[in-house]
Order: sequence, then structure tokens, then C-alpha cells
Amino acid sequence: SVSTRASAQQLKNPDELIDSVETFIFDCDGVIWKGDSLIDGVPETLDMLRSKGKRLVFVTNNSTKSRKQYGKKFESLGLSVNEEEIFASSFAAAAYLKSIDFPKEKKVYVIGEDGILKELELAGYQHIGGPEDGDKKIELKPGFLMEHDESVGAVVVGFDRYFNYYKVQYGTLCIRENPGCLFIATNRDAVTHLTDAQEWAGGGSMVSALVGSTQQEPLVVGKPSTFMMDYVAKEFGISKSQICMVGDRLDTDILFGQNGGCKTLLVLSGVTNMEMLQSPNNSIQPDFYTSKISDFLSLKAA
Ligand code: PLP
Ligand code: CA
Repeated sequence: SVSTRASAQQLKNPDELIDSVETFIFDCDGVIWKGDSLIDGVPETLDMLRSKGKRLVFVTNNSTKSRKQYGKKFESLGLSVNEEEIFASSFAAAAYLKSIDFPKEKKVYVIGEDGILKELELAGYQHIGGPEDGDKKIELKPGFLMEHDESVGAVVVGFDRYFNYYKVQYGTLCIRENPGCLFIATNRDAVTHLTDAQEWAGGGSMVSALVGSTQQEPLVVGKPSTFMMDYVAKEFGISKSQICMVGDRLDTDILFGQNGGCKTLLVLSGVTNMEMLQSPNNSIQPDFYTSKISDFLSLKAA
């Protein structure tokens, strides 16, 4: 699609942006932290925004942890954030099932890590699969037929370091053979930053394996889909025009904000640099860009 947006403006007057919204939604990796280290100036910036009465919400596409596990991560980094302010794509998968009244007697087959299992349990759903299927192998003997549970009504796929052929085949059987079985993806990030040393295959790689075998498109609950934005707006009773989405990725965070009709701020403290923002191949332009969120403080002082 052709973008009609003007090029992003460098953030010069953060107070004007801060005063224009009541809520900030922050992406996590690349904005708040990088892997396990806090990005410079984050605690002071969040404190300043809270002191101005702003609502702060944290959204991450990383489905490997639950809300509770992210709460601990924030705490270990010295940030006081409530679990209720954290929206991870693991939580979103469970919240989506709740939102459609997914029957409790059906099961969810999980291709993904612990965070998804924890959130499904909290929501009262029965799950199978997950990391424990990580060492299952298929031994092909003549006539071998793999059984699957016919009570599986949804397959949830997220980032999975224990991904294997068994899981692909199991998930495929459920989606193709169980009538009405849902195919849900936590996110489709192409690459991710497990370490600084290189880019790593992201959750999108596991999802695409199942797209290949089922020839179906998943329902995505993570960014840039509007599910979490609608959920957050409804949960807190806020209007989306009163939200500024802050993120380091154009195709997930900035698009997520724009799909929701929010203001958008790109920070260059994560995966996107100026060259990528200004590339003729990029059609996603945030309203503003700046190097990191603590510019909210340093630009004020200038
Ligand atoms: N998925 C995985 C597995 C990750 O490791 C990361 C970032 O570390 C992400 C997704 C993206 O997370 P965020 O949306 O917080 O940038
Ligand atoms: Ca990010």
C-alpha cells in the first residue's frame, strides 16, 4: 500500500507530545531494555511521565514469558511496573481465546515456550504440547500413523527454541483435521535479537512452517495486529487518539500504533537506524523519531 504520510519529524519538543496524550504504550526490547540490560535513562523517564499523571503500558511480542514473569524482569531491572500494565503476546493469545469464549472443554496445542502455557493456565484452558514435545522424534516405520487429540480446538504458535518436526506435524494434523480448529500466532517477527552478536530467526519462522503445511493464514494477536491495542483501550477505557505508541521497529511497533490511530514515536535505541527509516524501500513513517526515550528529559533541559 502507498503511504501518504509525511516523513517522520525529529522530536524537538517532547513536552508538546507528552501533553498531547494521556497514555504511553512502550514496546519493551529496544526501548526499555536490550536483552537483559536496561537502556540508559529509562527509570528517570518513566518516573517523570508518571509524575505528570501519564498512564504507562508495556507491550511486547516476545511470547516466551508470562505477564508475571515479565513483572519479575521489570523488578530485577529496578522498574516498578504492575503486572496489569504488561501486555505480552503470550497473554494476548489467552486473552483472545477468552474474548471469543473458546470452550473450556477443548484443548490448546502449543508450539512455543513457557509463557504461553502459564497464561493459558491462568485463563483456565487445558493445553498440551509446549517445551515437553521438544524431544519427541518421529520414527517412520511402514504404515506409521501419528495420532492426534481430536479435542484440540486451537493451535497457538509462538517463538520456540525447542521447535521440531513432531510439533509441525502435530499442529498440522490438528488444524487440518479437527473441524473449526483455530490457528493462532503470537507474532510473526522475522528476526529477533537474542544476543547482540547477530540476528536470530524470530517467531515468524515457526509460524511460517505451519502456514506452509496447512496453507492457512494464522490469526495474529501480537503487534502489528490491532488485537492488543483494542484490548488495552477497552481495559483502561482510553481513546486511541490519546495514546502515543513508542517502539524501535517500523513493521511491528509503528504499524501497530498507526493501525490503532495512535500517535507514534520511533526510537533508534533498538533495531532501526536512520538509514532504514529514510530508505526509499520503507513506507512506514512514524510521527516522530528520537534516539532513546530519555531524550524526553535531556531535550527538556536543553
Ligand atoms: N520475540 C522474541 C523471541 C524476542 O526475543 C524478542 C525480543 O527480544 C521479540 C520477540 C521482540 O520483543 P519486543 O516486541 O519487546 O521488541
Ligand atoms: Ca522492540
